Amino acid sequence: MTLRPGTATLGPVNASAHERIEAARVALAAAVTRPMQVMEVCGTHTLAIGRHGLRAVFPEPLRLLSGPGCPVCVTSGHDIDQALDLARRPGTRVTAFGDMLRVPGASGRTLEAARTAGAAVQVVHSALDALELARTSPAAEVVFLGVGFETASPAIAAAMRIALERRIGNFSVLPSFKRTPPAMEALCAAPDARIEGFLCPGNVSAIIGTRSYEPLAKRVPCVVGGFEALDILEALVELCERVRDGRPAVVNRYTRVVRDEGNPTALALLDELFEVGDAVWRGLGLLPGTGLHVRERYAALDARRRFGLPPSTADDLPPGCACGAVLRGVLLPPECPLFGSRCTPAAPLGPCMVSTEGSCAAYHKYGG
Ligand code: SF4
Repeated sequence: MTLRPGTATLGPVNASAHERIEAARVALAAAVTRPMQVMEVCGTHTLAIGRHGLRAVFPEPLRLLSGPGCPVCVTSGHDIDQALDLARRPGTRVTAFGDMLRVPGASGRTLEAARTAGAAVQVVHSALDALELARTSPAAEVVFLGVGFETASPAIAAAMRIALERRIGNFSVLPSFKRTPPAMEALCAAPDARIEGFLCPGNVSAIIGTRSYEPLAKRVPCVVGGFEALDILEALVELCERVRDGRPAVVNRYTRVVRDEGNPTALALLDELFEVGDAVWRGLGLLPGTGLHVRERYAALDARRRFGLPPSTADDLPPGCACGAVLRGVLLPPECPLFGSRCTPAAPLGPCMVSTEGSCAAYHKYGG
């Protein structure tokens, strides 16, 4: 396959895969017979599309929007401010994934700056790492900043249950979990967006199963795709053909990983620890039913209840930041006036430029 000069390559593929990629490219061009807007919901897809250089082979009328599927990007600034508040309290240590340290709160401050100023903030690779820190530091209150979609929340739920079973009483989670399908429903209903179909995340779908998209797929096609170049192209062909022909349905193009019923063990764990509630999404505001709240019987593990913090209710973006419009699929990242000038990965202004899976960061690194 020939790519446009200056774009990334598709990487080493064997001849058969190469031929399939070329066939998918031709099929995609045939499917997109008019201007068409579809959305990849997942930050991992956004990153993979950039890394594989796939935008270079998309047909001109296809506008592939990048949705709110980066957990770092959509974590409310209010939640970051609450983590900052906890980090300043004597005897409390706040633990978080590394990307979260650079995201500004609604106050404009970051956990990274707080750590530099002496606050107790520590990067961990998992909730289990935070739990281990709690076990080995019994005099400290260890709080884990629990962000993520259905891919991350089961592992955090597991750490919470282990904390209870092993009576590690100085561990808690500041919950900021998000649910994917209801957020997609909300995006579809937004008056300023015109999303005609969704490329659904393979990783989230492995947990929740394809059935979770069935209500939405009565209106727009939802195609689950994996993360290799061929996975993405073939899923997009299926999606765009269905948009073209007006045939909404859920289609699983990642059958080697995703099942209709999802992962029952992970779903049971989520149901045991959490209940559905509202969530504030950065740039999108309060979306009913899109969050997971800690159930009453696990209240001791909920940092908000434990430390008397109010629920997240409002959110702010830095002045001029168009992340809300980017996350709703109204703008592509380069259409933000600050993109690449006042906002870069080295000096991010908005949350979509912070994480490697943020749409603005991916566009900045790999181009459009
Ligand atoms: Fe926000 Fe920066 Fe993206 Fe603009 S380029 S939408 S300011 S993150």
